Amino acid sequence: MKGSGRRIYIIAGVMGSIFVVLSIVVILYMGEMSNRETKDYIRKATDQTAYVIDGYISENFHILSASAVYVSGHDFKTDTRYLYRAQEALKENLSFLAVGFIDLNGNCLWVGSDNEIHTNTIIGQYENIQKALGGENVLSKTVHDAYLEADVNIYYVPIIENGAVVGALFGADEEESLKNIVSNTVFAGRGFAHIIDQNGDYVVRSDHPDRLIGAKGIFDVEPKLKPEIQSEIEKNLLLGNKGDYEATSYKTKGLLAYSPLSFNNWYVFYVAQKSQTTAGIRTMIVGSIAIIVSAVLLFFLLIYLIYYINKSNRMALEKFAFEDPLTGERNLSKFLIDAREILKQFPNDTFSLLYGDIKSFQVVNDQFGRDTGDFIIRKLSAYISGGMREHELFAHLGGDNFVLLKKHVGEVDFERVFQKAERDITMLSEKYLQGKLEGRCGIYIFCPSKGNYTLLDMIDRANEARKRVRKTHGRMGYAIFTEEMQEQKRIEAEIESRMDSALRNREFKVFFQPKIDIQNNDRVMGFEALVRWRTPDKGMVSPGLFIPIFERNGFITKLDLYVFEEACRFYSEEMLSSFSRVPVMSVNVSRVSMLHSAFFERYTEIKNRYNIPDGLIELEFTESIAFEDHELFMNYVAALHANGFLCSLDDFGSGFSSLNVLMNLNIDVLKLDGSFFLGQDNLRRTIIIKNIISMTKDLNIKIVAEGVENTAHVNELREMGCDAVQGYIFARPMDVRSFMNYYRKTLGIHVYQGKHAL
Ligand code: C2E
Ligand code: CA
Ligand code: CA
Repeated sequence: MKGSGRRIYIIAGVMGSIFVVLSIVVILYMGEMSNRETKDYIRKATDQTAYVIDGYISENFHILSASAVYVSGHDFKTDTRYLYRAQEALKENLSFLAVGFIDLNGNCLWVGSDNEIHTNTIIGQYENIQKALGGENVLSKTVHDAYLEADVNIYYVPIIENGAVVGALFGADEEESLKNIVSNTVFAGRGFAHIIDQNGDYVVRSDHPDRLIGAKGIFDVEPKLKPEIQSEIEKNLLLGNKGDYEATSYKTKGLLAYSPLSFNNWYVFYVAQKSQTTAGIRTMIVGSIAIIVSAVLLFFLLIYLIYYINKSNRMALEKFAFEDPLTGERNLSKFLIDAREILKQFPNDTFSLLYGDIKSFQVVNDQFGRDTGDFIIRKLSAYISGGMREHELFAHLGGDNFVLLKKHVGEVDFERVFQKAERDITMLSEKYLQGKLEGRCGIYIFCPSKGNYTLLDMIDRANEARKRVRKTHGRMGYAIFTEEMQEQKRIEAEIESRMDSALRNREFKVFFQPKIDIQNNDRVMGFEALVRWRTPDKGMVSPGLFIPIFERNGFITKLDLYVFEEACRFYSEEMLSSFSRVPVMSVNVSRVSMLHSAFFERYTEIKNRYNIPDGLIELEFTESIAFEDHELFMNYVAALHANGFLCSLDDFGSGFSSLNVLMNLNIDVLKLDGSFFLGQDNLRRTIIIKNIISMTKDLNIKIVAEGVENTAHVNELREMGCDAVQGYIFARPMDVRSFMNYYRKTLGIHVYQGKHAL
C-alpha cells in the first residue's frame, strides 16, 4: 500500500473508533437518563400511592366521624338500636366488618356481620383506645381478630357531647382493602408497595408475588440493605422525609422510594425491580448497540471493500503496466525496474545484455498467419524464461524481440545459451514451420559501476550488435557490441537522413568498370555499372557503406532503379549512338529490388524506352538470392531471358555456394568473387577455381573473375580457361567521361596488361 492509501485507512480507522466511543457515550447517557426517569417515575408512583391511601383512610375517618356525630347524645349501651343504625349507615358506605362503641371505661359493645351484639374487648388495642378517648382519630396497625376471623385495621373516632369526649366509635376494616391499594399500584404491576411505620416495620404488607415473606419490616430482608442506605432511610423515616435509593437488596437490583402518609407517621414504601423497570430501555440499548456494531462492521466492511477494490485495481494496472499481454512475461518497463535492482546489488560484477529476435519473422506471420506467429513467440518466450537462472532477467519487448540480462561468465557461457536457443529454435521451426526460423542475438557486455550508460542505452547497443550479426551458431547468430558499431550506427543514421535529398540532387553517380576478355586479346567484352555517392561536403562515399543500409531500409529499390535508368541512358546515348558493336553492360540488382512487385515492368519499360536491343543488358544478382530461394530465382531468370535480359550470378564463392545448385541455374554469367584473389595463394584454392571454371564451361556459362589485382592471377586464370577479368589490374571503375575515353582508346586495340591499371 502506498503512503497516501495507508493514510486514508488510518483516518478511516480513527473515524470508526471515534464513532464507536461516541456511540458508547451516547448509550451510557441514554441509560443514565432512563435510570433517572425511572427513579422519577417511581417517586411519583410512590407519592401517588400515598395520595390514594391517604384519600381512602381520610374517607373512612370522615364517614365514621359523621356517624359519631349522629350517635352522640344517645345511650347506646341501653338502646342498641343506635348501634344497629350506626352499623347500617356505615355498611352502606364502607366495607367495615364490625362497628362498635367504647365508653370512657374502655367497655366495648359491637356488632359484626352476624348482627349479634358482642361485648368483648379487642386485644392489644388499649393504647389506640386511650388515644381515641383522648379525642384523636386513630387507625390501628393490622391485627388479627379472632371473632371476625380476619386481619383488620381498626378506625377509632371520639364521640363528643357538649365539647367533651363521652366515648369512641370504631369500625374494623378488612386489611384487604388497604392491601388491594398497595398491591395493585402503578407501574403496570411491575412494582409493589407496603405501608410501613416509622421504624420500617410493615403495617400493611403487599400481596405482590415479589414481596418478601416472613420479614418484619423493610430492614429485615436478606441480603441486607447497605448500612449507609439503611441509616439514611431510618433517619428520613423519623424526620418524615421522602426518599429514593437504588439498592441491591430485594432479590435483584431494586429501586426503592418512600413517601409519608398523613396518618400515624406511616409511609408508603415502594419497591420496583430494576430489571423489570428498565426492560424497555435495556431492549433499546441492546438494539442501539446492535445497530452500532452492525454500522461499525458495515463501515469496516466498506473500508475493506474499498481497500480490496483499490488493491485489485492496482494489481490490474500493474499487470497492464508490467506484463507483456502476448506472453505474460515481463515487459520492458518491468525489466528496467528489476534490472536496476539487480545491478544495484552487484555493482562490480560483469553483466551482459542480450537482445534477440528471429530473422525475418515477418515471413512467418505472412506465410503461416498471425496466430501461428503469436504461438511461436509464446513458445519461444516460455523456453527462454524457463532457462533463466537466479539474477537473470528476461523480457518480451513485443513482436519477435526479446531482451535478457545475465551475469557475464565469459563467451563460453554464450555457447551454452546459444546451443540451447539453437535447439529450441530448431525444434520450433521443424515442428511447426518446416524449418524456417533463424535466431539473432546482439550482446552488450558491461560492468554497472563502470561507464555511465543508462539501461536503455545499453539495450540499444545490444540491439545495434544484433543488427550486425555475422557469426553464426547453426540457426543462432550472435554479435558482441563494439564501439565501432556505435560509430557505424551514427554513420548509418546520417546516411539515412541524407539519402532522399541525395537522390533528388543527383548526388549518386554511375561509374563503369570494364570486363576484359582474357582469352581474346584482352578486349573489353563488357562493363559493370557501379554506383558512387559524391556528397558535397564529405566527398565520395563507398557503396560498401551505404548499400547494406539501403538494403535494410528498402531505399535500394529506388537507387537500383535510378542507377539502371542512368546506365541505360548512358548506354543508349553514348555507346549505342557512337559504336556499331558494343560490349554488354551489367547492372546490379539487389534482392529487395528483385522482389519488388513492379520489378519486371519497370526494368523492361526502361530498357525499351532507351531502345536497347535484347541481349546487351545483363543483371547481376548476388549468389545468396539464388541459393536461398532457388526455385523462385530460376523463374526470375527464365522471365528475364524472355524479356531480353542476360543474368549473372555475382559474388560466387563468397558465401555458401554449392556447385550442385549451379547445375540447375540457367544463368549466363558466373562472377567469381574477388575474395578468391586475396591473401596467399594455395593449391586448394587453385583446384577449386579450376573446377568451377571447367564446370561453367561444361554448363555453357561464361565466367568472369572479379577483384583481380595482379598479372600472375590473370595468367593463371587465362590458363585455366577463365573468360574474363574485372579488376584493377586492367581498370578501376570510371566516371562516364573517363570510361568513354578509355573505351575509345582500347576499342579494337590490344590492351597491354597493366597499362591502364591506375
Ligand atoms: P560488386 O557487385 O561485387 O562489385 C564489384 C566491386 O569490386 C566494386 O566495388 C569494384 O569497385 C570492386 N573491384 C573491382 N576490381 C577490384 C580490384 O581489383 N580490387 C578490389 N579490391 N576491388 C575491386 P564497389 O563499386 O565499391 O561496389 C561494392 C558493391 O556494392 C558491389 O559489389 C555491389 O554489390 C554493390 N553495388 C555497387 N553499385 C551497386 C548498385 O547500383 N546497386 C546495387 N544493388 N549494388 C551495388
Ligand atoms: Ca556486381
Ligand atoms: Ca561481385
